Amino acid sequence: LRSGVEQLGDMIANASVIVPFTGAGISTESGIPDFRSPNGLWTRNRPIPFDEFVARQDARDEAWRRRFAMQDTFAAARPGRGHRALAALYKAGKVPAVITQNIDNLHQTSGIVANDVVELHGNTTYARCIGCGKRHELDWVRHWFERTGYAPHCTSCDEPVKTATISFGQAMPTGEMRRASELAQHCDLFLAIGSSLVVWPAAGFPILAKESGAKLVIINNEPTDQDEIADLVIRYDIGETLGPFVGN
Ligand code: NAD
Repeated sequence: LRSGVEQLGDMIANASVIVPFTGAGISTESGIPDFRSPNGLWTRNRPIPFDEFVARQDARDEAWRRRFAMQDTFAAARPGRGHRALAALYKAGKVPAVITQNIDNLHQTSGIVANDVVELHGNTTYARCIGCGKRHELDWVRHWFERTGYAPHCTSCDEPVKTATISFGQAMPTGEMRRASELAQHCDLFLAIGSSLVVWPAAGFPILAKESGAKLVIINNEPTDQDEIADLVIRYDIGETLGPFVGN
């Protein structure tokens, strides 16, 4: 019986267009907790929905307090073996772009050009005004927060400033959704890596890829709802699985 990693190696070698789709599990090796594991972020904190963030100053203050409590973790994080393996496939011309649910910027840090990282849930390494969309840097937000004790409002339009992430109840980014759909429909191998595949609409992309004729591989240390439609399920650690593709 050939191992899952050997089968994955053959599938990668035989594919011409590979689209990876990543979730929080690819970044746990980098020290960023995922959402749903026992020491995941939500096991500790109920997420703040978008309408609460918009409506209440105390919710915004709490959201920024939590974000700054995570700052050292995000700032120290370096790409893991999973990120590096995908970056190598990208440089080899096999991966046109990566679709990610992650907000940690680690695919970009690993060497994938920002335009080729399709961020379905945004990015937590900078902020945006929820009114006019103006970009604000986290250092500025932090300075304001420490000086006033409150979450900031935009210097251009006075609307609240939020991390550039997509919260529950917030509209999905239309350009990214379109690009992810196109990628899922035009690949011959789709790799779902480190996602519990329960957050929608993101979880629809592996299904779309499979329905469009791609082979589907799921790499995750826990079962997912989509295991039964996958061509190969590797229920194992991501770094251990993808590390051999970059020589470690
Ligand atoms: P999730 O937490 O729901 O699922 C992560 C999955 O990865 C789990 O099934 C877990 O068992 C598995 N996993 C964790 N470490 C692993 C490892 N080393 N090897 C193999 N499997 C491993 O995350 P999700 O599906 O991405 O969805 C939740 C939401 O979480 C997303 O919307 C995303 O925006 C957000 N999020 C992002 C980050 C990040 O940017 N790094 C971190 C936490 C949450």
